[in-house]
Amino acid sequence: MNDYRIGEIVQMKKNHPCGGKEWEIQRVGMDFRIRCVTCGHSIMLPRTKFEKSVKKGRKFHFLPEN
Ligand SMILES: [Zn+2]
Repeated sequence: MNDYRIGEIVQMKKNHPCGGKEWEIQRVGMDFRIRCVTCGHSIMLPRTKFEKSVKKGRKFHFLPEN
């Protein structure tokens, strides 16, 4: 199932313009917010778009919580 979790690191099909490949999920729900791990830029996108853009074979590593 698509049980995405806050703090999870995912890869999107397209790299961020900065060259970053990994994104941290910061918010889940109707809209998702993901943050580029490389440059720190965050974007909001609807869940449907997120699910189309995310790469299969997700990684289940998490950034340490502050
Ligand atoms: Zn970036």
